[in-house]
Amino acid sequence: MPRKWDVNSPDFTALYRAFVFARIERDPGLNDCWLWRGTISGDYGTCFDPLINRHRGAHRVVWELEVGPIAPGLVLDHVCTNKLCVNPHHLDAVPPSENSRRGRPGVSRYWREEKDRKRLAWALDQLKRMREGHEPQAIPKNLRLARDD
Ligand SMILES: [Zn+2]
Repeated sequence: MPRKWDVNSPDFTALYRAFVFARIERDPGLNDCWLWRGTISGDYGTCFDPLINRHRGAHRVVWELEVGPIAPGLVLDHVCTNKLCVNPHHLDAVPPSENSRRGRPGVSRYWREEKDRKRLAWALDQLKRMREGHEPQAIPKNLRLARDD
């Protein structure tokens, strides 16, 4: 029996937030990625949205709960490359063209190695810089991905 949501209830946002966060596993061992443990469709987590009565991207749902509305036409780029991650600090709202331009090898896997940790730290620092209005920098040679990384 699916849960019944009263979207007009004053408690709706709090109840929905609890529903969403019950499906997130925060694991600092994975660089603070917030792993989606709810429904998965393709490579991405999906979350039921009572406002539209269907599932949609879990990372978008969490972003809207934590950060705010996503401007029309923007997609959320997984800076950490972990497609099941819904941590807003690991996501960047960009136009789809920018998302494909940034396309990185080795997506859809967890960051375990020391080099991966350094690369993620660098990418998150870049994200912070870009949000402050700076131009992105070239990835340092020692953090570049080799074909077989
Ligand atoms: Zn992440």
